[in-house]
Amino acid sequence: MMKEQQVKSSCVRVRFAPSPTGHLHIGSLRSAIFNWLFARHHDSSFLVRIEDTDKERSLQKYTDSIVSSLDWMGLQADQPLIFQSDRESEHRAVVQELLASGDAYYAYAPIDFDDEDKAPTAPDGSTHESDPENWVIRLKVPNVDYFTFDDLILGKITFEKEQVPDFVIARSDGTPTYNFVVVLDDLAMNITHVIRGQDHISNTPKQIALYQVLGKSAPHFAHIPLIMSESGSKMSKRDSAVSVIEYKKQGILAPALCNYLVRLGWSHKDQEIFTTDQMIQLFDIGDVGKTNAVFDYKKLLWVNSTYIKAATAAELIELVERDVAPGWQESLKDWNDDNLESIVALYQGRVNTLLELKKSISDLYQGPDAYHFGDASEADSSWLERVTDLESVLNGLATFSKEAISEALKAYARQKGVKLGVIGQPLRVALTGSTSSPGIFSMIACLGQTVTLDRLHRFMKYLRS
Ligand code: GLU
Repeated sequence: MMKEQQVKSSCVRVRFAPSPTGHLHIGSLRSAIFNWLFARHHDSSFLVRIEDTDKERSLQKYTDSIVSSLDWMGLQADQPLIFQSDRESEHRAVVQELLASGDAYYAYAPIDFDDEDKAPTAPDGSTHESDPENWVIRLKVPNVDYFTFDDLILGKITFEKEQVPDFVIARSDGTPTYNFVVVLDDLAMNITHVIRGQDHISNTPKQIALYQVLGKSAPHFAHIPLIMSESGSKMSKRDSAVSVIEYKKQGILAPALCNYLVRLGWSHKDQEIFTTDQMIQLFDIGDVGKTNAVFDYKKLLWVNSTYIKAATAAELIELVERDVAPGWQESLKDWNDDNLESIVALYQGRVNTLLELKKSISDLYQGPDAYHFGDASEADSSWLERVTDLESVLNGLATFSKEAISEALKAYARQKGVKLGVIGQPLRVALTGSTSSPGIFSMIACLGQTVTLDRLHRFMKYLRS
């Protein structure tokens, strides 16, 4: 396992290498975060390489979406994006060099042949020249007993030679394969540490074999455990949300998602919430757990709610506008900035996501379109009289501040010999349509006298009907 002092910061270079065949997946995001934290911890470079050599499945819209998800998360690359496809002629040139040196060779592989590790024999007379479509190029894997590497997370991993047969480095149409180009690109980019998902472990001995053939030393490898769904299977499209943009749309804050994903399988004492600086300072790839982590959506919501509580109201308004509902503030035009900020402050301790925050506040702005009475199925018969009284108390206030409202309502409760709760419930239902709401005095103050009285009038009409 890696110890801090073994990593010389000055020579660390890591990369995140997504394939643009879909939106950024939550598991890939975790790899990106671990790479980024590792680079920042060592005050060194984090690069992004778009692995777009699969021409049919790679789409520009996915590159754009991945880059925008990384930007949203604040994981910008330290250098311009590198596109694997830009290096295709170099990849092909190395294939030719290996053929020329005898380190690679043409091998028969019928078009419908899909188990690349088992090489079938060519029918009599078939040659690469006579039948190019049915031939691929394989690497002559060095004849050693085994391939081994010290994984920075999992420890020593060994593959017997039989597990690493001569593998395909270029397909019959000449396009080089993933295991080939990834090594050439990591070499060209001087990558020192390859941090990626455990689904790539079986590729690693092939890549090490290629480093050996090329006479180069392999980088360090760290394979991150996968994220499993709560049902115990690999997170798939069937699970609630696998792509990062879904979390953004639901109103998860980027730093909360980062905090949650880092903490999933990595810990520092029993601390749950970390600032980015703390994560950079404390994160050590060798401390990442070896076993797969289970995605716990409820915990993510809890982490998110913690970040929402800690943010300022102005920050939350900006985030709702940017990530969840552009034009939101405009839709609440009767409220000025101060008004809206006070209302956000009332709700931010009661929600788990920005979407919930936005919905609760928009509902409050709209006013009730139906009345829900909580446990009681309908209003108490005493409510009409109570609401009529409260209307006149609030109507009589010259200043409509939280303090003035609180004083007046408490005085009314004292005078009637009732508890505050008894007057709170009808007010909540009248103003919000439900029996649960933030502090009633603050809410009435935020809504203002005109809106409050208007809603009380509508409720009185409803109670009379
Ligand atoms: N393009 C690969 C993927 O998206 C990453 C390969 C690597 O990190 O070596 O899984």
